[in-house]
Amino acid sequence: MAQQQAGTPIPATLIPGDGIGPEIVEAVVRILDAMGSPFSWDVQQGGLAGIAACGDPLPAATLESIRRTRLALKGPLTTPVGGGFRSVNVRLREEFGLYANVRPVRTMVPGGRYEDIDLVLIRENLEGLYVAFEHYIPVGDDPQAVAISSGVNTKAGARRIVEFAFEYALRNGRKKVTVVHKANVLKALTGIFLETARAVARGYEGRVAMDERIVDACAMQLVLNPWQFDVIVTTNLFGDILSDQMAGLVGGLGMAPGANIGPGAAIFEAVHGSAPDIAGKGVANPLALLLATALMLDHVGRGDLATALRTTLDAVLREDNIRTRDLGGTAGTSDFADAVVRRL
Ligand code: NAD
Repeated sequence: MAQQQAGTPIPATLIPGDGIGPEIVEAVVRILDAMGSPFSWDVQQGGLAGIAACGDPLPAATLESIRRTRLALKGPLTTPVGGGFRSVNVRLREEFGLYANVRPVRTMVPGGRYEDIDLVLIRENLEGLYVAFEHYIPVGDDPQAVAISSGVNTKAGARRIVEFAFEYALRNGRKKVTVVHKANVLKALTGIFLETARAVARGYEGRVAMDERIVDACAMQLVLNPWQFDVIVTTNLFGDILSDQMAGLVGGLGMAPGANIGPGAAIFEAVHGSAPDIAGKGVANPLALLLATALMLDHVGRGDLATALRTTLDAVLREDNIRTRDLGGTAGTSDFADAVVRRL
């Protein structure tokens, strides 16, 4: 996305979402305003709030807004159980071709199991086994005796996500991209990904290093020696699993932001859900959504504000020792936001 013209607000869609969504979104907007927010928000509904408004967890008005702004910050959405609603996240991915899921993890609170973690996982978001071409084959009187699932990986899809990973590495001063696969067993499905990745990597020789890991070995290495990795790029299913494992290295999903990027739009969110157990109590941790906001600022060319936000969050956590309950502190959502605003 182009650099922001000085002083021109960037239109962006804001979806407060469900459960703790409105509370953490309020904290984020307050902090952004205190920083001199570059965004002009178009607030739209989604999830249960969307169903209440118009019977659809992804209302047409919300889709139209994102189509127009091509940029959204999204609070967590409750997925209704039953009722036949398709996942809003899957619909958004398909609608806007959000092929890249970017999940950075970084140690922010000292005293955890791992210090100095700073990794980024880039997951292919549209292909692989998650296309869910599935069916059963009956045997005898059991109609579901055999389950079959087919994955789909394309050279074009692999090239696009691996190029994205290398370009991300170049832009962000990262030195190495590790391609994670299972080409020793799934020779076609993940072999095509590995072969394509090797070809892409040749174009970056001397600028960004490339190495390869089989997914099971990678999972073990992430526990034994996570510092050996820098950027990891992988297929949909492996990326889903490894990104949660990596969030575990730095204290869990409460610290994990995610960006979903494609040609049609870029949508930023916390990885956690709507936390109905603590909704409305004012205790939710806004950190993951704030880190997603920093990714969004990077995306629109406001790395200056993104760095200022991350530095301030570090100072509040490490120097002021102000943390929400999930991180062992006593601060409420707005106490944490106040502390951030005081530091800006
Ligand atoms: P969850 O992430 O909402 O909650 C899991 C646990 O983590 C809960 O104990 C919760 O209190 C805690 N937690 C989560 N975020 C927190 C925060 N910011 N601060 C403090 N504690 C936090 O997962 P769940 O309970 O499995 O899902 C609840 C709902 O959210 C479901 O409807 C699910 O479908 C939805 N969901 C949405 C998204 C999304 O919109 N991206 C992602 C995951 C789950």
